[in-house]
Amino acid sequence: MPKAEETILEIDLKALEHNLNHLKSRIPQQTKFLAVVKAFAYGSDACEIANHLQHLNVDYFAVAYTNEGVALRNAGITKPILVLHPQTVSFSTLIEHQLEPNLYSPKILEEFIEVASRLNYSNYPVHVKFNTGLNRLGFSESQVNYLAETLKATSVIKLTSIFSHLAASEDLNERDFTLNQINTFKRIAEILTEAISFKPMMHMCNTSGILNYPEAHFDMVRSGIGLYGYGNSEKENRNLKPISTLKTVISQIHHIQPGESVGYNRAFISETPVKTATLPLGHADGIGRPYGNGKGYVIINGKKAPIVGNVCMDMIMVNITNIDCKEGDEAILFDAQNTAEDLAETARTISYELLTAVSQRVKRVFLK
Ligand SMILES: *Cc1c(COP(=O)(O)O)cnc(C)c1O
Repeated sequence: MPKAEETILEIDLKALEHNLNHLKSRIPQQTKFLAVVKAFAYGSDACEIANHLQHLNVDYFAVAYTNEGVALRNAGITKPILVLHPQTVSFSTLIEHQLEPNLYSPKILEEFIEVASRLNYSNYPVHVKFNTGLNRLGFSESQVNYLAETLKATSVIKLTSIFSHLAASEDLNERDFTLNQINTFKRIAEILTEAISFKPMMHMCNTSGILNYPEAHFDMVRSGIGLYGYGNSEKENRNLKPISTLKTVISQIHHIQPGESVGYNRAFISETPVKTATLPLGHADGIGRPYGNGKGYVIINGKKAPIVGNVCMDMIMVNITNIDCKEGDEAILFDAQNTAEDLAETARTISYELLTAVSQRVKRVFLK
C-alpha cells in the first residue's frame, strides 16, 4: 500500500469483491442482489464502486435521492437504479434518467402517475414500499386495497417490486419484532398479489437481514454496509473486509510544557511534558468534535495516539508522548484492523455515520 503523503481515503476494490462474494454465498443463487450505493457509496465513491459492482454483475443499484442516481447514469451505470426516497420535484429528472422510484405514499404515487402520464409513458417501472414497523416510509397494510385499485386503473406504471425495511435486523433481542415484520410483509404481498393478479418481486433484507433472516430473502436482497466490509456483529465482521482506510500524515510535532494548553478554548491543559502531532484533517473532513478530548485516536507506527483537546475544522492534535515517530510519518484513522466501527464507538456512534461523514475534500485512492 502506498504511504500517505496527505489525507486520503484508500479504497480496496478487491475487498469489495470479497464482500460481494461472501454476501452472495449467504443467499440462494437465484436471489437477486441489489447494491446500496447511496451517500457516495457510504462515503467511498459511488461511481467507482458502482462501476466495479456493475462489472461484477450485481442486478440492481439503490440510491436515496434522484441526483445520486443521475450521477450514476452519467458515470455509465446502465443497470436498474432504485431511488429510495424520491421527492415530487425531481420526478421528471428521475424519468429522464430512467431511474426507478420508490412510491411510498398515496401522494407520491398519484403525483408520479400524473408526471409519467404527462410524459406519455406506459409501464414505467416503479417500486412500492410498505411500512411493517419501522414507521419511516411506506404504505400501511390498510392501504393495500386502495393501492390495488389505483394500480389496476392505470397502464402508466408497472409494479416491478414491493418491498419493506427491517427496523432491527442486527439486534437478535428484537427477533420477535423482526419475525412479525416479515409476516406482515408476506401477508400484504399475498393480498396485493391476489388483487392485482400478478406477482411483483419482493425484497426486505438489508445486510443484517441477509445474515440473520434467511427466511426473508425473497426475490432480492439489498446490501450496503456489508459490501463496505461491516457486518454489525463480531461474528459477521470476521467474514468481511472493510474496504476503506482513512489515513493522513504528521504535519508538525510540538513539545508541550506543563501548564501549556493545546487547541481552541484551551480544552487541554498539560500537567506533564507532552509531545503532540498535528494532523491535516478535522471536523470538515468527517472527524467530528465528539471524537476530541481523548475519545478518538489515530494509529501511528502501530500505537494508539488519542486526540488532544478540541477537534478543529481542518486539523486534530494527537498525543504521541510515548510513540517513536517524526514529521511526515503516517497516521491511520481506520483501516481493516483498526476499524471504523471501533473508532465510531469512541464517539458513541456507528460505522455508518463515520464512513459517510468522510467529506468530499478527502482524496479517494483506489487499490485495484
Ligand atoms: C440504506 C438502506 C439499505 C442498506 O442497509 P445496510 O444496513 O447498509 O445493508 C437497505 N434498504 C434500505 C431501504 C435502505 O435505506
